[in-house]
Amino acid sequence: MCPWCRDRRSGDGLLCQGAGSCTERLERALGEVTALVDAAMVTYTRRARLGSGGGRRDETPLPYDPRVTQLLRELEAAVDAIVNRFWMPSDAWRAERTVGQRALFTCSHVLLLRRFVDDAQLAWYDQLLDRSERLWQLVDRPTHRMFIGTCTCGVAQEVDAELVGDPARSVPTQPQVTCPSCGETWDTQGSIDRLREAVDDQELTAIECSRALTHLQRPVTPERIRKWAERGRLASVGFVDVGAGRCRPIYRVRDVRVLLEVHEARIERIRAARSEA
Ligand SMILES: [Zn+2]
Ligand SMILES: [Zn+2]
Repeated sequence: MCPWCRDRRSGDGLLCQGAGSCTERLERALGEVTALVDAAMVTYTRRARLGSGGGRRDETPLPYDPRVTQLLRELEAAVDAIVNRFWMPSDAWRAERTVGQRALFTCSHVLLLRRFVDDAQLAWYDQLLDRSERLWQLVDRPTHRMFIGTCTCGVAQEVDAELVGDPARSVPTQPQVTCPSCGETWDTQGSIDRLREAVDDQELTAIECSRALTHLQRPVTPERIRKWAERGRLASVGFVDVGAGRCRPIYRVRDVRVLLEVHEARIERIRAARSEA
């Protein structure tokens, strides 16, 4: 019996095979990780504007949506758990590959993945499929939407938006939004201001800080944040476990925002001095 869908035609502990089977679902989810991460990082609008033409940009900030951040972490944790189960690769092996490449590697050994399936393994398969489905729902949208906060009833609120600038940031084009669940009406700018205050206290990785601040109209790249940390101007407040025994430093968003404001003020002074000269 297939341990995942309980199809009796499959041998004990073996995922079922063939069209629409569990093996196929698993293979597709693993094969799509690169495309999914890509779509989550760069919205379709932006990709169309720049022309995708090869060279994937791993770290292009995405309009900030805390749900995407969390789901990407959980997707990556599932991929690494699946990799570890059979291969126990070295840190160097992992560091050299994107999460999409790691997923693709396991995908090429799908015959191994469909055997020896126990409850722990199934839980990771479930997590992989669930997170990739939810991420596709968030990124696979024809018009660009911007997350502006959570309603008092707990439902996420979004408004129509345009993407401008590089790194891209969302500019809302809808002044108000009515909650589809409870009918409460929210002022877009007021919600963004509240979100900005809430984000200040969060502790995020460089990529996540970049997304959050860029979303809140303060564009900054993850590379710049890392450079500040390297030069000792920005202290990390801890580490986040990204699965498979690896950690990434996290920073308080407020600390990054203050450095960014100092940096912007300096650029402004240089500009003013130039125009006087
Ligand atoms: Zn099955
Ligand atoms: Zn509501």
